[in-house]
Amino acid sequence: MGLLTDHVAAPVNALLGNMVHAAAGQAFLEWTRYRDAGELHRQLVVPEEASDRRTFDATMQCAARIAITHSISQGAAERIVDTAVALRDRLPKVAECLRDGKLAPRYVRVIVERTDLVLDREDQQVVDTEIAAALRRRGSWSPSRIRDMVDRSVYRVDPDAVRARRKAAVDARGFWTEPLADGMARVEATSTAEKAIQISRRVDALARAVCDKDGRTLAARKSDAHFCLVMGVAWECQCGSDDCDAPTIDDAAPAPRTMPGTGSSMTLHVICDLETVAGDGETPCFLDGYGVISPAHLDELLTEPGVTIAPIGHSDDPLAPHTPGNPYRPSTALDTVVRARSLYCDVAGCERPAWVCDIDHVREYDHDNPCAGGQTCPGNTGSKCRLHHNLKTHTDFLDDQTIGRDGRITSVIITPEGLTVAGPAFDGTDLFPALKDIRFTAPQNAPTAPGPAEEPAPTRRRPRLADKHARRQTEREHNCRTRETEEQARASDPANDELPPF
Ligand SMILES: [Zn+2]
Ligand SMILES: [Zn+2]
Repeated sequence: MGLLTDHVAAPVNALLGNMVHAAAGQAFLEWTRYRDAGELHRQLVVPEEASDRRTFDATMQCAARIAITHSISQGAAERIVDTAVALRDRLPKVAECLRDGKLAPRYVRVIVERTDLVLDREDQQVVDTEIAAALRRRGSWSPSRIRDMVDRSVYRVDPDAVRARRKAAVDARGFWTEPLADGMARVEATSTAEKAIQISRRVDALARAVCDKDGRTLAARKSDAHFCLVMGVAWECQCGSDDCDAPTIDDAAPAPRTMPGTGSSMTLHVICDLETVAGDGETPCFLDGYGVISPAHLDELLTEPGVTIAPIGHSDDPLAPHTPGNPYRPSTALDTVVRARSLYCDVAGCERPAWVCDIDHVREYDHDNPCAGGQTCPGNTGSKCRLHHNLKTHTDFLDDQTIGRDGRITSVIITPEGLTVAGPAFDGTDLFPALKDIRFTAPQNAPTAPGPAEEPAPTRRRPRLADKHARRQTEREHNCRTRETEEQARASDPANDELPPF
């Protein structure tokens, strides 16, 4: 398959190239599996399909053959057959993308599920063609961008089906708990996207209200914060030190306004065309932190209290790219256009939503001679999450970006060894082509006050491996102390003798 035969001491770029090549090979092998499952279905199921009323029908038996030969569950095998049939009958061009290594196997099911409400044969062909064309573009994908790209196609082609499906989904919202192994349990709730974003932001904000010596992971703190919010119990940092500067929040739920990051206003950003706001657009909209939503969903959001509509670029006058006094700082208009255009962090595969990202000067701004450096203009600004912004600032990763004649942004990221990786294959201009028409005035070139001094690269308190060892050691010590305390308690109180030794 043209893979490296000797990997030992191979150059970094050869190893990376080989891994990418192997991933394309995996896609090809996955395609052969679906092709063959589709053929099994054609031979075994199709002849019986119209009349088969048996409980153990041909579909079930076809899947059972696959399940038994692969040692997988009946359900998993039925999903393979279902996916194979979808690729064969309604997504043949998408299937070819899988064959050619243009589609990662993990995205296949997402595409199949999100297109299965399109029933009309011609609509199916339009959707298949559009998705395949997008997958063959140069550029990178992430789960969110794949989902948005597929939704955009489906929402445009078959808005009625989307509406019906959404109503059913809203009606089916609910709340569950599910026991897990090791004395754990999962709490799950489904709600409208906007409610879920608000809950997640509040949980996140509370979880971050600790000092950096708190030993819990962010995920564990979020779990604790969720409990505190629902139960209205106190939240505090668990560093155990006396000079901790994190706030103690006595009563998390009843007084949310006193909590960090969760004042009375919580802003959700929705991008849409003005016609859609006016009620006569059929183009899908985009909810930051969620993805594509339908015009009907937008109508619901517009009835919520406190909605502000901020039109951008609706007049013929070009907009200012930076604030009047400071050519370094992006204007509100540029800030919004860049985020709407990026949808997420611009780095390949990154999923951070645009409105929690930083606006980054792709080429560094030169404060002494703005003409020489990267200016504050649409072509030189992008959205980067804090991690990727810092990766670029403090390491040898580089990026570059150009706006083509067609108004499309082309961005690349370059690894320290010089491997160039294309930026997103799908962005906000695919959802809102009008973004490409928004004009900005030329940036001012007067020298400005020196910018913020470059911060030294952040360092770890100790290497990652040492950190891991230290965490293990702390856990062991903690377990040991707990055991000792319990033993002492039992020893000092004879009545405790009957207590089981936990
Ligand atoms: Zn603390
Ligand atoms: Zn990122």
